[in-house]
Amino acid sequence: MKSNKQHTDPTIIVIFGGTGDLAKRKLIPAFYNLYLDGWMPEKFALIGLGRTKLHDDDFSQHLFEGLTDFSRNGKPEAEQWDTFKQSVTYFTSDINEPESYKGLAAKMDAIDAKWGIRANRLFYLSVSPEFIETVTVNIKKAKLANHPNTDRIIIEKPFGHNKETAIELNKLLVKTFEEQQIYRIDHYLGKETVQNILAFRFANTLFEPLWNRNYIDYVQITVAEEVGVEERGGYYEGAGALRDMIQNHLLQILCMVAMEPPVSFEAEEIRNRKVDVLRALRRIRPEDVHKYAVRGQYNGGWVQGKKVVGYREEPKVDKHSNTETFAAVKFYLDNWRWQDVPFYLRTGKRMQEKISSITIQFRPVPHSTFSKTQEDSLMANRLTINIQPSMDIRLRFMSKKQGLEMNLNPAEMIFDYDECSTQTPEAYETLLQDAMHGDTTLFMRSDQVEEAWDVITPILEAWESRDSLDFPNYAAGTWGPESAEALIARQGHVWSLNAHTTQKK
Ligand code: NAD
Repeated sequence: MKSNKQHTDPTIIVIFGGTGDLAKRKLIPAFYNLYLDGWMPEKFALIGLGRTKLHDDDFSQHLFEGLTDFSRNGKPEAEQWDTFKQSVTYFTSDINEPESYKGLAAKMDAIDAKWGIRANRLFYLSVSPEFIETVTVNIKKAKLANHPNTDRIIIEKPFGHNKETAIELNKLLVKTFEEQQIYRIDHYLGKETVQNILAFRFANTLFEPLWNRNYIDYVQITVAEEVGVEERGGYYEGAGALRDMIQNHLLQILCMVAMEPPVSFEAEEIRNRKVDVLRALRRIRPEDVHKYAVRGQYNGGWVQGKKVVGYREEPKVDKHSNTETFAAVKFYLDNWRWQDVPFYLRTGKRMQEKISSITIQFRPVPHSTFSKTQEDSLMANRLTINIQPSMDIRLRFMSKKQGLEMNLNPAEMIFDYDECSTQTPEAYETLLQDAMHGDTTLFMRSDQVEEAWDVITPILEAWESRDSLDFPNYAAGTWGPESAEALIARQGHVWSLNAHTTQKK
């Protein structure tokens, strides 16, 4: 893992899908902000690829507009942009055409010749997954990435559609690349607040001794979106909340919370500890899926005072769709640290609030020293790690209410990122910088991806084999179906965010 600004060798960055949405909204703003902050290699060339015929100037104008709309630094200043854009070119090419790869090879060789060095190469596949095979096969044929230590490829999610296809994809990738060259990106792992989980856990003595079944009652991870499926109905119909969010983002966060302390911050060490967590996650038996997992689909409703339609009324969505837009799962880990501690994960679209948050709920005190009336206000300690949009860590503890009597009151200690710095890098900045530098810590290794699919396979299969009888089952602008409350009420728990009244358990 990087420790401070490091020298990065000259690098050629190739973006397949350079004219696409992801490039415009995330990738180019990330590269540009890295450039502004002095993180880009001294020598770099960024080549955008796309089918559309464009001149370099048109392409850079398109990127400039994207930066103006989406960069955390807003509209670029003319002088800085003019220098940056000199390193940006566009190459019209068809992914399916072998000739395109020959043209790309010539372009990259010319840059190497100009710099007098064989530059590092970073290929970003910002295209639909169906193109991965074509691109990688052609990269191999054209010998574009035959320096395993310095040539790298970044693959966007989804990594497969289920366990079998993920294994196939991994087999396909290793025909062209060595595992160390493959960077499977999960942008959640680049988020400052998610990375901070490791610092919080392993750079402090205070919490780690309590971080186990003896002191922790349960863990909740919520990734709630306010938006609906928007224009992505076509994609989402084939995905659903379990595939789109739980298989990757939520399980990765769970790994950060539950992993054993690594011996070092070496990439392989961290990835080994994370995969240990996925292996320890108890597989749910097909006949028990209904006891551990709940699905939902949003109906019409009100979001921020605006009336919105139900999922089945969204564009490119089947009127009788069985796709879940909400999923909640109760997981258990079979290991010494976490035996019997439930990990509740949930995610959904069109929920009441956009929020990603982790709740670590500690056990109640073993014996109450206080009177019955005082005891009623006693609440167990709770640690809340807010990932987005709020970025903070909150520790709830009990204190004495000011006054002559001994009354109890919950209090909170808060660490707020925004108060420390207003310039938090975007997740893609962190991840692209790591990829340019050859640091795989925050990227997913093939076994992590396959284990994560294995964990959710029983749920996927159960849901696909039986249509839900109650869809749509939650109104837009709420916290999801009632069955999600019931899922954890069996353990006497409630979703901490919904309650908004702090809970006592
Ligand atoms: P997009 O449809 O906006 O862009 C696709 C790009 O592929 C375009 O540049 C297009 O020119 C190019 N393309 C398509 N067919 C081509 C061909 N035959 N030859 C050459 N180029 C061709 O897609 P996107 O939203 O940018 O998503 C790209 C990838 O990133 C997808 O795998 C998607 O799942 C993933 N992703 C996107 C987002 C996002 O926010 N947009 C978020 C996470 C993951």
